Amino acid sequence: MNTQRKLEPVVKNVGPIILLGPPGAGKGTQAKQISARYGIPQISTGDLLRNNVARGTPLGSRAKETMGRGELVSDDLVNQMVDSRLQDEDCARGFILDGYPRTLVQAEWLEDFLEQGGAAGRRCGHPLVMSITVGYNELLQRLSGRLSCPTCGRIYNLNSLPPRVDNLCDVDGSTLITRPDDREEVIAERLKSYERQTLPLVKFYKGRGELLELNGARPAEEIFAEALKAIEHKA
Ligand code: AMP
Repeated sequence: MNTQRKLEPVVKNVGPIILLGPPGAGKGTQAKQISARYGIPQISTGDLLRNNVARGTPLGSRAKETMGRGELVSDDLVNQMVDSRLQDEDCARGFILDGYPRTLVQAEWLEDFLEQGGAAGRRCGHPLVMSITVGYNELLQRLSGRLSCPTCGRIYNLNSLPPRVDNLCDVDGSTLITRPDDREEVIAERLKSYERQTLPLVKFYKGRGELLELNGARPAEEIFAEALKAIEHKA
């Protein structure tokens, strides 16, 4: 059952926040809570790509097969998509990047972007980078029991976080789905892509003194409390 405590929203500038971590670490869950707390957008490149696939846009058709195999979509395509999203006015006070950057090329592109133009046409300072860590076997278990709501994006897990009514979202009653890339044969490839291409970013951001590591094997509320402390400290 979801027992997330509601906190009052706070309106303040919090700057860019980057959530790093393997698939299944809980980035989306944390991003949604931070987004609600500060009224800043959660920018999930996975959600943006899935939305393009569902609408059959040219970008979606270019990404669909690669996503189906659990591999990463090309840097150029993802950077362009993020560039365009970060121009939106709702990014002016801050934003949370969930699932981006995922390669060194993306991280370097983002660094230039933040230093030069910045989101919504404004310079926005150094990001706060939080890396959520979870062991391999735990990730496998989480991803193979994962269900998501196609309407609000809330994530459930058959073993650890089941919906109140079988197969229906607690929030809006939509029928829950298993994402095509949460199938067992694709999960291993996604975790491999993470280790090969995304894990090096931990070192990249550590080197810049911008990284906070969060132990993701704890209840979501505990992780959220630690994340909030870091955000408040930096703001
Ligand atoms: P996610 O929902 O974040 O797990 O992303 C689902 C899929 O979208 C990934 O397995 C990739 O195929 C693709 N994707 C999402 N974000 C990125 C990114 N930053 N770079 C490349 N591919 C991405």
